[in-house]
Amino acid sequence: MGRRKLAAGNWKMNGVKAALAEIEALEAAYPAPDCDVLICPPATLISAMAAVGNTVKVGGQDCHANASGAHTGDISAEILADAGASAVLVGHSERRADHGESDADVNAKAEAAWRAGLIAVICVGETEAERTAGKALDIVGGQLAGSVPAGATGENTVVAYEPVWAIGTGLVPTLEDIAEMHDFMRAELAKSHPAAFDDFRLLYGGSVKPSNAAEIFAVSNVDGGLVGGASLKAADFGGIIKAASEG
Ligand code: PEP
Repeated sequence: MGRRKLAAGNWKMNGVKAALAEIEALEAAYPAPDCDVLICPPATLISAMAAVGNTVKVGGQDCHANASGAHTGDISAEILADAGASAVLVGHSERRADHGESDADVNAKAEAAWRAGLIAVICVGETEAERTAGKALDIVGGQLAGSVPAGATGENTVVAYEPVWAIGTGLVPTLEDIAEMHDFMRAELAKSHPAAFDDFRLLYGGSVKPSNAAEIFAVSNVDGGLVGGASLKAADFGGIIKAASEG
């Protein structure tokens, strides 16, 4: 109720300066969409993308929990903010898998994001084996409890449900399964964050494309999408922005 949809893109480890033409194309085609738009490029492009973007807001893909210090190769929320970011993904399943990030790590990163004035986009989602074993709700409930700090509000936090088995595979849960999970997440957040639960935007992520975005965004408690592959090209991501605008 009253939640503005969000079309968020995660470029992962893709994108060099020439890719900024995609942002220029999006800005030209969608100067004032009826949704929020966020793209999270590699950190090297944040500054330049923020200079080109107007409708398109820019985010980081991860941040360290500390503001500064001896952490070679890491980036802090404060550095992302200084470069022009307004949000940061935390707890993406590729970070959880590749870098062993725990719910406690993700929780600390979300608080770091707020400290720097960034929106934390907290990612959760079950693996294929967990879904097959009938544990998807339990796993996501546990991730929410561990990863979403007590101070989360609809202003400083977005939650993205991304079933690991749907990321980059072309597989998508049924609309009924997406609805079940998103309704469940809203109900869990109502218990943990009773003052804010109705304000959180809950994104679906995992093989969202222009051809399936509208039906997914129409599902109960889906407030937009977190999109990987289909966010790289303006022609594809434009279709997703259109679906979020009309949804
Ligand atoms: C993602 O990496 O967050 C994602 C959802 O990827 P894709 O859209 O390519 O499945």
